[in-house]
Amino acid sequence: MFTQAQKDVAAALVEVYKGWVGKGFGNGPIGKLVKSNRFAFLVAVILDGGGVSADQAWQGMANFAARLKRKKIPFTPSAVATTHLATLKVLAAEKPCIHKYHANMARFIKKAARRIVDDYGGDADELFDAFTAREVFFRLMEFEGIGDKRANMAVRLLVDELGEKYRDAQHMNVPVDVQVERVFQRAGLAGANASRTEIQQTAARLNPDAPWALDSAWHVGYTWCTASARYCDGDPAADEGTDQSEFCPLSAVCPRLP
Ligand code: SF4
Repeated sequence: MFTQAQKDVAAALVEVYKGWVGKGFGNGPIGKLVKSNRFAFLVAVILDGGGVSADQAWQGMANFAARLKRKKIPFTPSAVATTHLATLKVLAAEKPCIHKYHANMARFIKKAARRIVDDYGGDADELFDAFTAREVFFRLMEFEGIGDKRANMAVRLLVDELGEKYRDAQHMNVPVDVQVERVFQRAGLAGANASRTEIQQTAARLNPDAPWALDSAWHVGYTWCTASARYCDGDPAADEGTDQSEFCPLSAVCPRLP
């Protein structure tokens, strides 16, 4: 069903995944925040998408946390749920605003806080306390502003970066976005018109034991295979020692399709 070239690309992506996993948050201020506060994590997941980059989204969450702190509002579901929406909107809109659609995001954050208070006793840890990743995925899908891509991404981050243990985690699929689409297409794993469902099916068939390992395509797309340029042999303008200055990890096996 798959050519040897496609299998080689998939194997290379699995290797990228092994080197990439566990490095997502680091020990900077954002990493410390999401590791100690699952509500902060949830807010970042809500912000991660809708035309902003992952860096902007997670920084947006950290900025929002700092502004709440300045107003002496704890970054907890109960405190945010009882804060006037108008106040949250003002904090979200401060420059740099927390998201391109900051007013909507303020509304989503308040609703998320309310849901955690009502359904999880005000404890965001409870939201993520489940036997299966699929259960957490479905719980996340109930939050306004979180679709299947963000829910899938959140589950992967919970397991790979925050150490949550779910029985079926390895069977969760790739959270497909434009980065993953682009790399799958250029690397010959998906046709130019492949749907996101078809890309997930391809990932599940190429790497059935751990389909989401192919989410490393996101890292490749974000770092080397961008929408505006492809740095197959590294970006000559990048600082030495950075990922961008190195060859794309797929360069030896990628057909480099248009
Ligand atoms: S080798 Fe080039 S075309 Fe292929 S994934 Fe890497 S940057 Fe993209």
